Amino acid sequence: MTKQKEIVKLPAKVLRGHAQDIPMKEILSPHIQGLISNMQKALKNTPDGVGLAAPQVGESLRIFIVSEEAEEIDKAGGRRQKGELLPPHAVEDAPKKLYEEREWKYYVFINPVLKNTSRKKLDGPEGCLSVPGKFGNVTRHEKITVEAYDKHAKKITRGASRFFARVMQHELDHLEGILFIDKAERVFEAIKREQS
Ligand SMILES: [Zn+2]
Repeated sequence: MTKQKEIVKLPAKVLRGHAQDIPMKEILSPHIQGLISNMQKALKNTPDGVGLAAPQVGESLRIFIVSEEAEEIDKAGGRRQKGELLPPHAVEDAPKKLYEEREWKYYVFINPVLKNTSRKKLDGPEGCLSVPGKFGNVTRHEKITVEAYDKHAKKITRGASRFFARVMQHELDHLEGILFIDKAERVFEAIKREQS
């Protein structure tokens, strides 16, 4: 049995490395399949996470996962248009309780390649499980298309927009050793409630 992996935080060097492609014939290996289920458990154990990349569990490999909750957040955001302020959705740190708690599915992306990006970009707040307590606005493509392999080694093409696309761009950056704090115009400390 593999030990449950902890989420790696800065200043861990693995977060700054260029992650390696996984040879096709290794996708179905116990090591990679175990890593994927470990990542799913690690993400599930975080109260606010919606995405996780393999370097965040200490493995410099090109895999990331995104919870289908990210799609629900897009739907909830869509209902809040008409000038009403969107809740501060932060990547990997999305507010819960807006939606009913349930068992989320996880989309798995192995050796992902960014294929298309929209010219239109959107600003939005992000946070990161590996950079706890910090937030910042990052400009991302509104829409993207990614080609990858799923955990059954089947080739997939996934189009995404808005929040889901933001999470994918954040996770793709992790595979290059890039963190949102490198791209945010300003990084803020999350406000901690003082106990007096
Ligand atoms: Zn992150």
